[in-house]
Amino acid sequence: MLNVASAVEPSAPTIWETALAQFDSAADRLKLDDNLRAMLRAPKRELIVNFPVKMDNGKVRVFTGYRVQHSIARGPAKGGIRYAPDVDLNEVRALAMWMTWKTALIGLPYGGAKGGVVCDPKALSPAELERLTRRYATEISIIIGPDKDIPAPDMGTGPREMGWIMDTISQHTGYAVPAVVTGKPLAIGGSEGRVEATARGVVVIAAAAARRRNLDLRGATVAIQGFGNVGGGAAKLMSHFGAKVVAVSDVNGGAYDPAGLDYDRLRRYHQVTGTVAGFAERITNAELLELPVDILVPAATQHQITADNAPRVQAKLIVEGANGPVTPEADAILDAKGVLVVPDILANAGGVTVSYFEWVQDLQGYFWDEAEVNSRLERLMTRAFDATVALANRERVNLRLAAYMLAVSRVAETVAARGLYP
Ligand code: NAD
Repeated sequence: MLNVASAVEPSAPTIWETALAQFDSAADRLKLDDNLRAMLRAPKRELIVNFPVKMDNGKVRVFTGYRVQHSIARGPAKGGIRYAPDVDLNEVRALAMWMTWKTALIGLPYGGAKGGVVCDPKALSPAELERLTRRYATEISIIIGPDKDIPAPDMGTGPREMGWIMDTISQHTGYAVPAVVTGKPLAIGGSEGRVEATARGVVVIAAAAARRRNLDLRGATVAIQGFGNVGGGAAKLMSHFGAKVVAVSDVNGGAYDPAGLDYDRLRRYHQVTGTVAGFAERITNAELLELPVDILVPAATQHQITADNAPRVQAKLIVEGANGPVTPEADAILDAKGVLVVPDILANAGGVTVSYFEWVQDLQGYFWDEAEVNSRLERLMTRAFDATVALANRERVNLRLAAYMLAVSRVAETVAARGLYP
């Protein structure tokens, strides 16, 4: 049957198109050489794997997984693994490209990668998830390794999955290989501070950006979309630093109290019910994004703020905890409204920064305490924020374009210096 609506309306951009559009804006502004532009646009390697997993009922199900290495010019590829029912190659491509810019912006000696498995982790038992993770790790083992490509957690995965990957690769090798993956449990070479690192980075950057808006994070009102590793951690640390978190949400909906939400009670409610929805006045995710708050932290998933709802966003400052939550069209609208948007490749880079520290500690076999990890994290993130703001002021561009210009020019410089093989 002909779908009339889709025949006349332009379809929404995919996040790969968003990633390319963001790269092209920076490349245009930098007047990047055409050859370099073509090289940086194309992902270096894309691996698609279809693999069987025995389910608890004895049947075999074939799953599809991806690992995309966008760039390995500056060092080993680095990026998380996403378990989601709708993940596809274009999404993984976009996320891999963003990792290349993120690592370059922070100044880490890495390229960018991402992985994904098409599955609903909530619908699988722990035993099924373990078999799926070990088989996926085996399938992508031909391209990952401490010197080649180092996975980490993303949506739907966490320390438990990273532990299974570390063990699988170590079983293949015959000895412990902790540096093959980051975001591991502490007992097998994880780093202090890694679990909260992305959220800590979000809060460090939010505080720095708030100062530019003459806002004090202490007492500022905050709405956070997503209550997973990034959103839940941001709610905790924002509350800890004295901000007033008035709204949170997850995939089931949100909770809003203009007087502020008590984090400890919220966490207990979430532990018992598995959701934040209903903890206070029930709101939808769409409503959360339009609340009258000082700071909005989209920390769930991509393309949440679009040309449709951007005109109604009331926040003064948006700090992108998620990857790609704001579309390029929405960016232009927010810019015109004077909303300061701190881009994902800067705001959520705390996770990959502490992943880098974890890898360094694993390779050295020498581990740091949490205070050292946190202070190094703050130093690298603040350095990147200051450099981004300085370039934005000099070039009269927004923070996203400035961050991209810094990152793209660093990767382009490396690629140019290495020359073209053969
Ligand atoms: P997570 O799986 O721990 O949590 C995701 C949260 O978002 C959950 O609360 C879930 O209910 C909610 N959610 C999912 N889909 C939603 C939807 N359509 N609407 C509303 N809520 C929804 O994932 P995470 O690790 O916190 O990742 C969140 C985002 O942050 C992703 O974009 C991810 O790529 C990005 N990110 C994560 C890290 C990290 O270290 N974990 C680092 C950088 C960026």
